[in-house]
Amino acid sequence: MQTSKEIQIANLGFPRIGRQRELKFAQEKYWRGETSQAELKKVAKELRRTHWEWQAQAGVSLLPVGDFAFYDQVLTLSATLNAIPERHRNQDDAHVDLDTLFRVARGRAPSGKDAPAGEMTKYFNTNYHYIVPELTVDQEFSVAYEQFFEEVEEAKVLGYAAKPVLLGPVSYLFLSKAVGSDFDKLSLLPKLIKTYADILARFSEQGVDWVQLEEPVLALELDADWQAAISSAYEELKSSEVKVLLASYYGTIAHHQALVSALPVAGLHLDLVTAPEQLAEFAANLQPEQVLSLGVINGRNVWAADIDLIAERIAPVVNDLKGRVWISPSCSLLHSPVDLDVETELAPALKQQLSFAKQKLSELTQLKALLSTPADSAAKVEIDTIVATCVARREAREAAADQQVIDRVAALNADDYERDTVFANRQAIQQQKFNLPLLPTTTIGSFPQTPAIRGLRSRWRKGEITQEFYNDQLRQVTRDTVERQLKLGIDVLVHGEAERNDMVEYFGEQLQGFAFTKFGWVQSYGSRCVKPPLIYGDVSRPEAMTVEWAQYAQSLTDKPVKGMLTGPVTILHWSFAREDISREEIATQIGLAIRDEVVDLQNAGIGIIQIDEPAFREGLPLKKSDWQAYLKWAVDSFKLSAAGVTDETQIHTHMCYSEFNETIAAIAAMDADVITIETSRSRMELLTAFEDFAYPNEIGPGVYDIHTPNTPTVDEMVELIEKAADKIAVRQLWVNPDCGLKTRTWDEVEPALKNLVQATKVLRRKL
Ligand code: GLN
Ligand code: ZN
Repeated sequence: MQTSKEIQIANLGFPRIGRQRELKFAQEKYWRGETSQAELKKVAKELRRTHWEWQAQAGVSLLPVGDFAFYDQVLTLSATLNAIPERHRNQDDAHVDLDTLFRVARGRAPSGKDAPAGEMTKYFNTNYHYIVPELTVDQEFSVAYEQFFEEVEEAKVLGYAAKPVLLGPVSYLFLSKAVGSDFDKLSLLPKLIKTYADILARFSEQGVDWVQLEEPVLALELDADWQAAISSAYEELKSSEVKVLLASYYGTIAHHQALVSALPVAGLHLDLVTAPEQLAEFAANLQPEQVLSLGVINGRNVWAADIDLIAERIAPVVNDLKGRVWISPSCSLLHSPVDLDVETELAPALKQQLSFAKQKLSELTQLKALLSTPADSAAKVEIDTIVATCVARREAREAAADQQVIDRVAALNADDYERDTVFANRQAIQQQKFNLPLLPTTTIGSFPQTPAIRGLRSRWRKGEITQEFYNDQLRQVTRDTVERQLKLGIDVLVHGEAERNDMVEYFGEQLQGFAFTKFGWVQSYGSRCVKPPLIYGDVSRPEAMTVEWAQYAQSLTDKPVKGMLTGPVTILHWSFAREDISREEIATQIGLAIRDEVVDLQNAGIGIIQIDEPAFREGLPLKKSDWQAYLKWAVDSFKLSAAGVTDETQIHTHMCYSEFNETIAAIAAMDADVITIETSRSRMELLTAFEDFAYPNEIGPGVYDIHTPNTPTVDEMVELIEKAADKIAVRQLWVNPDCGLKTRTWDEVEPALKNLVQATKVLRRKL
C-alpha cells in the first residue's frame, strides 16, 4: 500500500444552503426588501467560510469554489458567460449583477424591471432544478460577471487552494434551449469554448492550478455530433494553463469510454457509486500522468458508507496508480443534507446509519486512513476502530430486518399482480355499479389548504391542541369540502386531503420503516428546500392509514367518494431510500403496504380508489437502454398495490408533469381503470400518445390548469374536451382538473369547477 500522502481527498461541491437554511432565509429577506444586498452577501460569505473550513478540516486539498450560488449554479455560469436574456438585462448599460440573476430566476428583483422568469427544469435525474439558459442563433459570449473570480480571491485570502467547479461547455449547451428560432445549438460551441478559455485564463492568472469541468451529459447516450463536441471542446481547452479535471456523475460513462479516455485532460472523475463496474476499464486506459478521481461516497443519499468494503474494492487501483488517485464523493454533495450533528432527536440506532454532507467528508478521511500504511500503532488502532464500526453498523442493519415483510415479498406470485379479469369486463361491471354519466366529472384529490388548516396542523404538531380537537376540526373541513362538491354537481367526489401536509410524508409517518429528520433539507430550487423522509428499514403498514377519512366523507353522500393514496414508485422516489436492498425490492414492499390499504378501503365501502404516481416518469434512468428494466418493476409495484380488489372496485391513477410518448406501453400495462393526467397546457397534445397506442382504459385529461390563479371559461374547457374527443372515444373520457387544488383558494376553485361542470353539461347535450 502507498503512504497516505499519495492519496488526495477531493470534493466536487458542498451544499450551499447552510445547516439551518441560512441562505434561504437571507435571500428571501432580501427579495422582500427587508435587508440590503450587502447583508445578503455577508451571510453568503460566512457560509462559504464555514463550508471551506469543514472541508479543509477533513483533509480536502483543493477547495471547490463556484459550488456556491445565490439561486442556481447554472445561472451563475450563464451570467459569467453573459448569456442573459435581453428582457432581464439592466436598462442603462446592460451590465450583469446579482439582481440581474434574480430577475432571470424569479422574474423580479429589488432593482430593475420585472420580466417573465426563465424556465426551470430538473437537473438530470435529480430533484434539483436549474434555470434553463436561453440562447439565440447569434448568441455572443463574454466574461460578464465576477462572482467566480471574487470567490477564488476569497478562498485565497483564507489561505486555501481553490479549485473552481463549473459545468463544462458541452453540458451547458445541451441543457440550454434555443430561443427565437430553431437552430443547432452546437453551432454556438466554438464561440462558447473561446469564452470558457477566457474564464480559465482568468483563473490561471489568479494562481489556480486545477479546474473541475463537469460533463454529466456523458451519462446519457449521445448522438455522434454531441460526442464529437466533447472531443473538440477539450481539444480546444487543452492549451489552457490550468489543469482540467473532467467530472462525470449520476451514472456510468462506460459507453463513452474510448472517447473519454482519449481526451486531453489532466484528470477524470467517475461516479463509482451508481456505476462501480466502470472503474477497471477507465483505470486500465488512464493516460500517463492523468489523475483518476474515484467517486466512492454517495453524494446523493444520507447513509453512512461501508468504507471498509470500498477500501478493499479500490485498493488494487490505488496501488497501481501510485499517487494519481483522488477519493471523493460520487457527485457534488449538493443533494445531501448538510450536517447530521444538528439532528438531536434521532434514535441513536438510526443515527449511526446516517451520514450527511459534513460527515461524508469525514468518511473520506477515514477511507484514506484505511488505504494508507499505518505509520504507528495509534494509526493501526484507528484503522481497527473504523473497520469495527462498519461491521457493527452492517450487523445492526441485518438484525433489524423484518422477516415477515421479507417472507411476504418472497411468497408473491404472478397472480398477485393481476386483477381478477380484463379491463373490458371490469368496465362493464363498474358501469353497472356506479352508473356514471357520460364524461364523468371528478377532481384529483386535494382541495385548498387554507391558512386555517395549516395553522391548525401547526398547533397540533406543537401539542397545543388535542388529537380529538384536531380531528374534529378536520372533519368539519371535510364535510364542508364534500358539501361544496355536491353543490357544484361533481360526479365522483374526494374528501379533500385536509389532513395531509404532503402526499409522501403523510404515508411515511404511518408506515413502518420510515423516519424523519428535523433539518435534513436539500435544495430543490432557488430558496426552496425539501426534506425527504428516510426509508431505513423494511416497509409495512401496521394499521389503516386513510380509511377513517374516506369512510367519513362517504357517509355524507350517496355519490361515490374516491379513496386517495400515494403509489409505491412516488413514495420511493421522493424519499431517501436505503441502499442495502434494491429499489425494486423497496418498491415491492411499499406496494404491499399500499395494497393492504386499498383492500381495507374496499372493505370499508369505498368503491373507487386512486393511487397517485406523479413521480413515475421521474424515476426513468438516464440511459434509455436501462428504461425497460425500470419500467418493469415500477409497473409491477403499482399493479401489486392495486390488484388486491374485486372487479367492482374502480382503480384510478394520476400523473402530472409527464410526457407519455415513450412510456405509453408501460402506462397501459399498469392497467388502472382510469388515469387522470395533466394536459391543459399542452392543449391535449399529450393525449396523442394514448390515441396512437389505442389505449383501451379510461382517461381523464386535465382541462383546468391549476398552476395559474385564472378561471378557465366554459368555452375554453368545451374546446379542450372536444379536442380530447377527437383523439379518444367519448365513453372513455373523464373531465377533471390537471392536478390537486391544494395550492389554490376556494375563491379560485369554485368558479373554475362550476365552469368545468357546466362545460361537461354542454357537451353531454351535444355529443
Ligand atoms: N392527490 C394529490 C393531490 O391532489 C395528487 C398530487 C400530485 O399529483 N402531485 O394533491
Ligand atoms: Zn398531479
